[in-house]
Amino acid sequence: MVISKMIPIVERLMNEGYIKNNKVAEALLKVPREKFVPKELRDYAYIDTPLNIGYGQTISAIHMVAIMCEALDLKEGHKVLEVGTGSGYHAAVVAEIVGKNGQVVTIERIPKLAEKAENVLRELGYDNVIVICGDGTLGYEPLAPYDRIYITAAGPDIPKPLIEQLKDNGKLVAPVGQYIQNLIVVEKKGKKLIRRNIGEVAFVPLVGEEGWHIEE
Ligand code: SAM
Repeated sequence: MVISKMIPIVERLMNEGYIKNNKVAEALLKVPREKFVPKELRDYAYIDTPLNIGYGQTISAIHMVAIMCEALDLKEGHKVLEVGTGSGYHAAVVAEIVGKNGQVVTIERIPKLAEKAENVLRELGYDNVIVICGDGTLGYEPLAPYDRIYITAAGPDIPKPLIEQLKDNGKLVAPVGQYIQNLIVVEKKGKKLIRRNIGEVAFVPLVGEEGWHIEE
């Protein structure tokens, strides 16, 4: 089923060159974003902006989900690690692209968000998504290595455990920085890492052992 309210947004993102891969367009048209936002914000679900999901966190804007999916160059059957589940929306979009033969492992540090996201993902039938509650800056070793890794919160740099858990020829996409953040694409070629900056972004902080350290 196509979400009709998403059609003009996807058309615009295609016209503006953010979406080039039809699989990304199809996934965005399939996932009901309103299910991932708090009830009182459902009227805003099909506006291309981040929205509050509680606990000081946000669901990313639609164009940012598109940009990150494009940069990851996702293929059917990929095993993908997401750090920062938040609402679970981005994980659902990636799950659509990698399909039933692929898998999305997503980690969230805030237990209530992890629980909520897992419930929505189960309700919508995303059996190829596993939600883990914990510190994603350490990755998730039991299911490593991953074809693709992405982080949806900005840290001081790319956490080393994530580079280690990325397959050879794998790609990782992550925002890096504090006040000024850049979206970084890393390609792993043997012992070599090829790093590209694809533009300035604004994300919530990546908090954890290999991220920012905050008092709680
Ligand atoms: N992908 C999300 C979505 O579709 O709703 C957007 C996520 S939000 C911008 C970033 C999330 O990263 C927040 O929920 C935050 O709690 C989480 N986060 C921050 N540091 C983390 C860490 N070390 N491990 C796991 N999650 C973390």
